[in-house]
Amino acid sequence: MSSTIFALSSGTLPSAIAVFRVSGPQSLPVLRQLSRRKIWTPKMMEYTKLYDSERRIIDEAMAVYFPGPKTFTGEDTAEFFLHGSQAVATKFATCLSEIENVREAKRGEFTRRAFHNGKMSISGVRGLDRLIRSRTEKERRAAFGKMRGGVRAVEIRKKLVQILSKLFVIIDFGEHVELQLEEAQRDVSEILQEINRMIAAWNGAERAQRGLNIVLYGRPNSGKSSILNQLAHDDVAIVSSIPGTTRDSLVTSLQINGVLCRLTDTAGIRRLTDDVIEAEGMRRAQQRLECADIIIVVVDPESTSDDVAAILNDVEELKSGESKVIIVKNKTDLKLPYPEVLIDSMKKCHVVSTYATSSNGCEELRNKLGSLVEELCPEANFLLDAELLRKCSDELTCSMLCQDAAIMCSHIETALESIGELTEGIVNENVLDGIFSKFCIGK
Ligand code: GDP
Ligand code: ZN
Repeated sequence: MSSTIFALSSGTLPSAIAVFRVSGPQSLPVLRQLSRRKIWTPKMMEYTKLYDSERRIIDEAMAVYFPGPKTFTGEDTAEFFLHGSQAVATKFATCLSEIENVREAKRGEFTRRAFHNGKMSISGVRGLDRLIRSRTEKERRAAFGKMRGGVRAVEIRKKLVQILSKLFVIIDFGEHVELQLEEAQRDVSEILQEINRMIAAWNGAERAQRGLNIVLYGRPNSGKSSILNQLAHDDVAIVSSIPGTTRDSLVTSLQINGVLCRLTDTAGIRRLTDDVIEAEGMRRAQQRLECADIIIVVVDPESTSDDVAAILNDVEELKSGESKVIIVKNKTDLKLPYPEVLIDSMKKCHVVSTYATSSNGCEELRNKLGSLVEELCPEANFLLDAELLRKCSDELTCSMLCQDAAIMCSHIETALESIGELTEGIVNENVLDGIFSKFCIGK
């Protein structure tokens, strides 16, 4: 790795500015030679003229020197900001190649050096790859999260190794054992909290990726279709006053806070129906509950206590553990009382009132949905594969319960294996070649 590499990092020419990046032990000598100037203050961008080997001027430029290891690659780095013409760039590249031990970088070589110098984990590299390729805002955020997650995994691993080495000292010398164990447990608990937050973030990102399922559930005629139409700003469901019009489930897609949501208007839930088609509709509606992220239970003043009890019972029985329930008291304009069975459930769920046949009668519901979507898909800064994180979390939880330093160590070591998979994975050079070859030159 002793050669110094360079590349045009700023993309297609011509452009306003062409950025050349140089990385490796020769970075400062290269900068000195091309500028014919000895003193370069680290991290300070300065105006300079650049000359070829025959002292003819190449361009006027801005340049900066970053000493390693606090650089992207971990090596000494220099950057040149020249005028972005093809002629300038070609001339400058030629001059760079003429310097001994300096050559043009291969695809992804900067990142590869960052990886080899422990600046970036393999998931970080993959995240960076996605970041460069991202097309939509959502992809950009997810990619950024993955890249930063990779960096965070490296940090977590370092911290765990530190705790391990402290524990080894306790095992070897055995002084103030209890105090030191307590301290180690405190350290582990901090890391554990962080890992658990990252698991939640990953789950949220996965949810956002697949989209959320929102299901409307209630007796026929309670106003489900009207609410759906209001939320979708469109007449997608047939609204009628004959109970049971929506016989099958109807799905509408809409975006809430940038997350794709599938809103399902289920067939009305009515007990003891003789109608075969209607019974089938009800069965499907119940199925929908099982995979709902948010269930909107619609109740109107004409719903009987039996209706409401049955509906709430279905929801309680069929909903998944992490799903959210909103009770909507619809037809508030009628100014009539709602069944009393609701009172108990209202304490446990979110409750909003709507007037679904008026134009702004669902604002409160729309806002509530917005905040629940936010809760289910929180903005994630760090994203790492949850399965490995979960293994790590389990081991660390066990380690916290140990009163014996040696056993604690063995749990932390197992946790480190999972983190290790996140940071390096079982990657060999072939895998790396595969990843880096897709990078552009200059990254
Ligand atoms: P669904 O069977 O649960 O889908 O109920 P619909 O949306 O089809 O509505 C049934 C009937 O109730 C229709 O005649 C609607 O116009 C009426 N309706 C819905 N929401 C309201 C409301 O907030 N106030 C009043 N007064 N009528 C409503
Ligand atoms: Zn309907």
